[in-house]
Amino acid sequence: MSKNVKVEEIFGSRVFDRGEMKARLSKETYKKLEKIMDSGAELSLDIADEVAAAMKDWAIEKGATHFTHWFQPLTGFTAEKHVAFIDSPSERGKVVYEFSGKELVRGELDASSFPNGGLRATFEARGYTTWDCTSPAFIKEDAIGKILCIPTAFCSYSGAALDLKTPLLRSMQAVNSASLRLLHALGFYSSKRVTPMAGAEQEYFLISKDKFLKRKDLVYTGRTLFGTMPAKDQDSAAHYSGAINERVGAFMKAVNLELWRYGVPAKIQHNEVAPSQHEICPVFLSANISTDHNQLIMEILKKVADRNNLACILHEKPFDGINGSGKHTNWSLITDDGINLLSPGDTERDRLRFLLILSCLIKAVDRHAGLVRLSASCVGNDYRLGGNEAPPSVISIFIGEKLEKELLAAAENSVPSEDDDENTLISTGVSFLSSFNKDSSDRNRTSPFAFVGNRFEFRMVGSSDSIASANTVLNSISAQSFNEAAEIIENAENKEAAVYRIIHDNIAQHGRIVFNGNGYSEEWRAEAERRGLKNISGAAAAIEYIVAPESISLFEEIGVLSEEELRARCEIRYESFVRQLHIEALSMVNIAQKQLIPAIVKYTRDMALSISAVKKACSGADTSVQENALTYISSLLREAGNALAALEKAISRADSITDVREKAFFFKDSVRPLMQELRAPLDIIEKHMDKKSWPLPSYGDLLFDV
Ligand code: ADP
Ligand code: MG
Repeated sequence: MSKNVKVEEIFGSRVFDRGEMKARLSKETYKKLEKIMDSGAELSLDIADEVAAAMKDWAIEKGATHFTHWFQPLTGFTAEKHVAFIDSPSERGKVVYEFSGKELVRGELDASSFPNGGLRATFEARGYTTWDCTSPAFIKEDAIGKILCIPTAFCSYSGAALDLKTPLLRSMQAVNSASLRLLHALGFYSSKRVTPMAGAEQEYFLISKDKFLKRKDLVYTGRTLFGTMPAKDQDSAAHYSGAINERVGAFMKAVNLELWRYGVPAKIQHNEVAPSQHEICPVFLSANISTDHNQLIMEILKKVADRNNLACILHEKPFDGINGSGKHTNWSLITDDGINLLSPGDTERDRLRFLLILSCLIKAVDRHAGLVRLSASCVGNDYRLGGNEAPPSVISIFIGEKLEKELLAAAENSVPSEDDDENTLISTGVSFLSSFNKDSSDRNRTSPFAFVGNRFEFRMVGSSDSIASANTVLNSISAQSFNEAAEIIENAENKEAAVYRIIHDNIAQHGRIVFNGNGYSEEWRAEAERRGLKNISGAAAAIEYIVAPESISLFEEIGVLSEEELRARCEIRYESFVRQLHIEALSMVNIAQKQLIPAIVKYTRDMALSISAVKKACSGADTSVQENALTYISSLLREAGNALAALEKAISRADSITDVREKAFFFKDSVRPLMQELRAPLDIIEKHMDKKSWPLPSYGDLLFDV
């Protein structure tokens, strides 16, 4: 890596961005394309042809050899199929490059090989990818060479969405029109477009590659299935935002340089609370581009780690007893003329608009709490949510006491009493340190959905998950709520009175979801139950909310997903839950059987031999320490043996269940507890056995090495 890279020279160098398009397309075509990108008009083949030619020239000049439609099937990962630009050679044997508008706009592949939830049983296997011109194409560069990646949506032969991007784009359209409708109803006419914005804080662990490869559990499942914390416990205060060591620093530098080349505005990096845990965060962008970028961030973190003899772990809970990783998803709505609809605003009129919007969001989240919970559910997150380190599994909204007072006052058509205006200036007491204004509300790390001044921070999303579902749900539920408010205001004689009435009704009916206290406390669990809030404890239980009657009518009403698409997604989620737990259970059996139990058997045999040897050498010697240890380990080994047999039996029982929902619950209720039963005695044995005899690198080896 060159020493002094100038960021302005490399930033976006691998991106076919608007600047590049403007320079390479005719003025007329660029204008048309810009209109399509900004307001979603239909794309004609002439435009596509001209863009394809320009994109191809740019990519070939940059050294690209292939192109691919880059898409996000329902696996949670991105997918690509490379096609070389070269076509049949000219008569004189010279290379000919080919890339048409048709190839840019449409790709075709076998949809049956991707999760489709039965959507293909009734239709053909063919699937199509379609160019998403709102997210710029880029050249991916690594050992395979340079590949032009064209962001696309993916659908079945019948046009049913088979990816994460299509519903996201549809939800962006829906929230755009609903927000504009609401703004117009309120008499704000300056904005032409409203874009949902997203900023995702990505947490990850970084460990040594050699040790990672010695842990088959990490390799197969992304998390450790055995192991406990060593004597040096998690000392969060020491690690969080502590000085970054050089090995991690070199990794972060390489990641930033790569990301900047892809036009990803990576901005913040720091050590996180757990040992070997870190965070990277880019500047927020439109929800669509941020979603694409987050996929790139995850890919680059893994690739750069690999190049540096490290392994980057994105799993939500790689280590038992150690803080897990999340992906706080910051979300707001911003107009083309720069108004953040989630900013409190300065004038009275802006303030009222903000309070109305806030009350609509409170209504939306309360009404669709199950869906919101689902949008952040995945198997890995089950090990994280609900512990005292991550948001609780009950959905609530934090808005801070000051804002709550103001909202309650607005609900009664009044203004809050003056005494709220406490001193907002903080003075440090040191003359040369300047005084500063404090934020209007403090942070509340225990809330799953927190208002943070000008945006919401949705803290439940898992670190390995795409942010697409969370954003799709937030956009959709807001769109519905905004449309309902707009309708009332449009038909009201006295619009201002109508606004106050809506705020009143929203708070009266849905204010129960607002909670500003400690979300980790026992009292909150009881209080949430009293308020009738849903406590959906895990992914399996959350899945059915995707096909709850209110979810189906929501998504159909605003045109984001049809009932058929939702039912397919429901099935895919159950399948994915089952698949992952199946892999975890099988990996556990494999590691216990092939590595741990043989090592323990050998260790106990050596111990027995040593006891006999000692006794033989000196008949009066006291061997009680060894004998006690041998008895203890042997009894734990028997426990592990029993649990192993039970786990194997449960796995074969699961194999015979055909209903996918039933299977998911069987894994959750019967297989998962047995996995824990197998783990527990083996983890204790690890603590009692000689380190050299234990076949896996320990937590200490993994976490205090990099
Ligand atoms: P925290 O203090 O919560 O760790 P960070 O500053 O690390 O927050 O990250 C906050 C994220 O929120 C960044 O990605 C930032 O760009 C994003 N963000 C800031 N303002 C907005 C907004 N209006 N809408 C969406 N995301 C935003
Ligand atoms: Mg945050």
